Formats: sequence, C-alpha cells, structure tokens
Amino acid sequence: MLSTSSTGGTHTVVNPATEQPIVDVPLASVDDADAAIEAAHEAFHSWKAVAPGERARLLRRFAAVVDAHIDELAELEVRNAGHTWGNARWEAGNVRDLLNYYSGAPERMSGKQIPVPGGLDVTFHEPLGVVGIIVPWNFPMPIAAWGFAPALAAGNTVVLKPAELTPLTAIRIGELALEAGLPEHVLTVVPGAGTVVGERFVTHPLVRKICFTGSTAVGKRIMAGCAEQVKNVTLELGGKSSNIIFADADLKAAAASAPYAVFDNAGQDCCARSRILVERSAYDDFVALLEPAVTGMRVLDPADEASEMGPLISATQKERVTGYLAGVDVAVAGSAPGGPGFWVPPTVVALEDPMAPIWREEVFGPVVAVMPFDDEADALAKANDTEYGLSGSIFTNDLGRGLRVARGVQAGNLSVNSHSSVRYWTPFGGFKQSGLGRELGPDAPYAFTEEKNVFIAH
Ligand code: NAD
Repeated sequence: MLSTSSTGGTHTVVNPATEQPIVDVPLASVDDADAAIEAAHEAFHSWKAVAPGERARLLRRFAAVVDAHIDELAELEVRNAGHTWGNARWEAGNVRDLLNYYSGAPERMSGKQIPVPGGLDVTFHEPLGVVGIIVPWNFPMPIAAWGFAPALAAGNTVVLKPAELTPLTAIRIGELALEAGLPEHVLTVVPGAGTVVGERFVTHPLVRKICFTGSTAVGKRIMAGCAEQVKNVTLELGGKSSNIIFADADLKAAAASAPYAVFDNAGQDCCARSRILVERSAYDDFVALLEPAVTGMRVLDPADEASEMGPLISATQKERVTGYLAGVDVAVAGSAPGGPGFWVPPTVVALEDPMAPIWREEVFGPVVAVMPFDDEADALAKANDTEYGLSGSIFTNDLGRGLRVARGVQAGNLSVNSHSSVRYWTPFGGFKQSGLGRELGPDAPYAFTEEKNVFIAH
C-alpha cells in the first residue's frame, strides 16, 4: 500500500529523455512516516504468525500479479528513469523472479538441533519486525525487491522509500501487493525526501533494520545513525570496478562487451566496469577494437525499442558527469541525441595517471577510463587501488589466471570472460567502502532474522 501526505510537499516527476513533467507525487512528512512505521509494526504481529505455507502462497500470488503487469511497470520505468525497454522489462521480471524465489523460503527456514547434555537445544530464525528499505534512482524496481522479497518471506513487514526522482514503479508495486492479497501495512511505500522519510526510518525505534542502497556518503551517515540504536544495517554503496583484459584473451569478445559493461543504464550502475585495464602488449589492438563498439551503440530516446542507452536521470547528474570530462583528452566518443533530455554520449578516456579523479571517483555516467598494465601483479595492484570493491571482470584464456585474479581482486562480485554480476539466486555485495552485508542468494532471508537459541531441560 501507499502512504502519502499533503504536508511533505510534492515532487514533479520528469521524463529524463524529454524533460517533460509526468506527474506530481506527494511527499510524506515525518508524521506520515511515523504513521506508516507504526501501522507496519501493528501488521508485523499478524504477518509473522501467518503459516509458512500461506505466506509462501501470498508471495507467489504477488509474483503472478507483478507478472501480469510487466509491460505496465516497464513503461513507467522507461518514462520515469529513461531505461531502455529491454532493461525495464528485465527489471520488472526481476521483481517477479525474486518473489517466486523467496516464496520458497518460509517453509524452509529451519533452525538447528544442537546436541547438549540434560535437554534439547534448538534454534529459531525470528523475524526482526519492521524493515526500512531506502532505494536509489538507478534501478528502482530490482533494488526495492532485493530488500522486500526476502524480508517479507522471513516474516517482517516493510516500509519502502523510493528515490525522490523515481517513485512511480514502487508506488505501483505497493498497489499490486494489495491486489495480490498481502494484508494492509505489510508492504508500505512511503515516497518522500531522504532527509525526511529516509532519516526517520533510521531514527524510529520500531524500524529494526535498514537496507540502504545509494551513495557512500549517505551510507556512512545511515550506518552512524543506526549505531545509535544498534540497528541492523545492510549497505550497498558505490563502485569503481575494473574490467581486466589480458593479452591472451579473446580481444574481439572483450572489446565488443566492454561498452555494455559500463554504459548500460547510461553508466548509472554501481557495478559499472568504469576502469578498463589492458595488458600493455594488447593495448593498441584492444582500443582499436573498442572504438567501433562504442560508436556503434544506439543511444536513442528509450521510448524507441531499438535504444541501447538512454539519458542520465537528471540535469544535476548530467552536470556532475560532464564535470569529469572538462579538460580531459577524450579517446573515443559515441553519439547522443541533441535537444531536450539529460544526454551524455558514451565516452572513453585514455589515462596513465592513477590519481586522476576520473580513475578514482565513481562518475556514475557513461564514461570509461582505459589504462595499460604490465603483468598480473600490476593489474591487481591497479584494480585494488581504490576505496571501493563491488565487482569486476577478468578476460583471459588461462583458466588458472582467471581464478587467481578473481581471488585477488578485493571485490564482492567477479566474473571471468563475462560481465555478469547479479543473479537473484547468488549473493551480491561489496568489499571495503562498497558496502556491508550481502543481498540476494539463498541466505538473504536470514539477514532479516535474529537467531534465537532455546534450551529445554529434560
Ligand atoms: P543518495 O545516496 O543521496 O540517495 C539514495 C537514497 O537515499 C534516496 O532514496 C535518497 O532519498 C535517500 N537519502 C538521501 N539522504 C538520506 C539521508 N540523510 N537519510 C536517509 N536516506 C537518505 O544518492 P543520489 O543522490 O541519488 O546519488 C548520488 C550519487 O550516489 C550518484 O552519483 C552515485 O555516485 C551514487 N549512487 C550509487 C548507487 C548505487 O547503486 N550504489 C545508486 C545511486 C547513487
């Protein structure tokens, strides 16, 4: 369900490809957030008591209702976030798949029976209570569902705050939950400002866990806030991930896929491989192969089904990204539509200076920096020379080296000869300042529980 107010102001949602307003969304106030949290707390007592098989059935029904609305949800994301149709349909399908996958959890969250003298010792996975999920604007649907699907499966209720810029799919998913038969206040969408609703999730004592995805700066603030109440927290933060290409790799395949590994979603992806490291002996060949792959990307209004890359989310984000390009030598630039919309063409910058801001900072736009390396040790040193550690790719035909380097990169999600980081049934999360805790995979529901030990004397 949706919790809104007339007292927190409104936000005009804009289509980033056209700059045309779509709709005004009311923003919740602190009082609205409190009311939503208290109602979710009330609902928790009955939701956790729902029989596991019934909770599973309701989640499967929720998945089926989402499935029946894939095109509608995708269309909202194409207009609200500038996502391509292919991506937006995948994202809505991801919500369905997460609900189906975690609908298997309620009946399987077994505890342990531990041998002890004088009685029986058993453990239980108790739900936490109200979980607050704070979502960024880059992948509004999947990131919301990565939190709410396992949290609901484990018996928690959820208050969900979408990003100010992209609330539309979350609002619709909240309605679909009710349509599917989830009781009121089990999943409540609370659109509002981060500094109002997001902060209230952190400070409200009835919220027992925060799942946050967004910038590292805000993530640190949230972690500090959670410390006040020793509140559980999962953080999915920024990234500066490397795509490491060895000379023995299939250079054609590596060059053909590299643009999609960074320019997908216009580079607004925490897993974007925004550093390309190429073994020096293959550097020139690789860059020559990269150029047509970049210039050939179809950067079009995402309303066009042929579009492979859309605009950035906002004027602010465009300004931020183009700021990184001022005074920098551009090696390759693709195309982008003129006229309205927050467009930046896919851009490749060749670098040797590892202190350059474009090499060190998360640009969060369609910009990739390429740098040569000398050997395996140099590749690892350069890839690990960052405060981030979210993902990365390694291209090589030497299986041993692929594994060695994958183990050596200080990041949570590596792929060899591909760029796949995220599958809902495998764990996802960051090392270092890219995050804390893991989402997805078979263990995700347990992250929304406390383990309880009970001893019964004979
Ligand atoms: P942000 O961290 O400001 O916002 C993310 C979410 O947190 C939003 O819902 C926002 O309303 C909320 N929020 C903001 N301040 C808050 C607070 N004090 N307390 C609680 N919640 C708060 O991110 P942004 O402004 O949308 O983007 C800025 C930069 O962050 C981007 O350019 C990018 O570098 C990074 N970013 C990373 C990811 C990611 O997936 N890791 C996603 C979005 C943005």
